[in-house]
Amino acid sequence: MTDPSPVGEESTPFAEELAEAAALDRADPLAWAREQFHTGAQDPPYLDGNSLGRLPRRSLIRLLQVAEEEWGHGLVRSWSGWMGMPTRVGDRLGEVLLGAGPGQVVVADSTSVNLYKLAAAALDALPERPVVVTDRANFPTDRYLLAGLAADRRLKLRSVDFDEVMGPTPEAVGSAVGPDTALVLLSHVDYRSGALADMAGISGVVRDAGALTVWDLSHSVGAVPITLDQSGADLAAGCTYKYLNAGPGSPAFLYVSRHLQRRLQQPIWGWMGKRDPFAMEEPYSPQEGIGSFLSGTPQILGLALVEEGVELLAELGVERVRAKSLALTDHLVGLVDRTLEPLGFRLATPREGQRRGSQVTLRHPRARELCERLDRSGEVILDFRPPDRVRLGCAAPTTSFTDLVRAVGSLARSAAELVSEDAG
Ligand SMILES: *Cc1c(COP(=O)(O)O)cnc(C)c1O
Repeated sequence: MTDPSPVGEESTPFAEELAEAAALDRADPLAWAREQFHTGAQDPPYLDGNSLGRLPRRSLIRLLQVAEEEWGHGLVRSWSGWMGMPTRVGDRLGEVLLGAGPGQVVVADSTSVNLYKLAAAALDALPERPVVVTDRANFPTDRYLLAGLAADRRLKLRSVDFDEVMGPTPEAVGSAVGPDTALVLLSHVDYRSGALADMAGISGVVRDAGALTVWDLSHSVGAVPITLDQSGADLAAGCTYKYLNAGPGSPAFLYVSRHLQRRLQQPIWGWMGKRDPFAMEEPYSPQEGIGSFLSGTPQILGLALVEEGVELLAELGVERVRAKSLALTDHLVGLVDRTLEPLGFRLATPREGQRRGSQVTLRHPRARELCERLDRSGEVILDFRPPDRVRLGCAAPTTSFTDLVRAVGSLARSAAELVSEDAG
């Protein structure tokens, strides 16, 4: 039975793990990054950066500056600078985080809306193909919007059961697509297991079948190096409030490969996607290039924070972020094997680092009770995904090895408490 005294004291079974973690934290070349964020010394370990990233200090300063100077003082005159933001920030995001050359990314709307635009445009371009393919375990909004599109157009939605830990592979996708398939929508990193898909391999298989890929990058952007152009991805979208730290409800992005831009037309015809938005009498006629994927007025405050999030990650270096993320998740898998497996937890994330995003998922039959307990005590922030998953998000810039040990210690103690309460 685990000693119920708080983790962090000499007498706990985690003393050795804490000492080891402290040494890893001292040697961490990215340890300074934590200071770039709004954090407090007394904060509980935050292992939910995969749901909502922390607030960068520079973003708070930028938010005040945009609000006070550009909005407060500049008023409507500031639109001269603001109008270009969706494409300017999109280009920079593409360069720093997506491996996308200029003119292929815009920052606007939400991930749900962007995925809808991309999927609808792809379906319109391949009207003779009646099948849409996705992962049955894909994020709900992705599945719902495809179901809506399929119902609307009388298409067939083919939901594939991929391996629940390893996610979709090129082979499995290959056997799910054919001459009937118009598009395949998949997550690059699975939100439940954290599995990282082989983007180049899968995009190739889908291209060979004559279909188009739509990648959801919500759980990979800012955590995993992405090479959209090189991987032969067709279309992609993702959100900016997770590993990109742009704040709750910050605008999402979308990518349309240059070779498709002439062929695709998105379905939400708004004035911002038009050739000249201020030629108000004219009928709709889309602008050239990626700008045609815009619809309405850009979300300026959020866009400014996306820009700060991208610049911060550019300074940290995506490769360094990935290296630390792998070190963190490897360490966590080791801790789980040693201390949580015996308490009924099961690893539900790929063991091989290269197949993993930046989270570790555990399954436990009483995960809900465990998470409710930790929620009440406030000693660690992590998240529960029904029916039995605990997700431990390891946002590399702000997570320490000590955070991991504290979280594992809390899970171990809570699990042991449940068992002893049952017995008592
Ligand atoms: C977080 C997330 C979304 C969020 O979509 P919103 O439109 O921002 O609500 C979509 N897809 C995936 C895979 C996500 O992880």
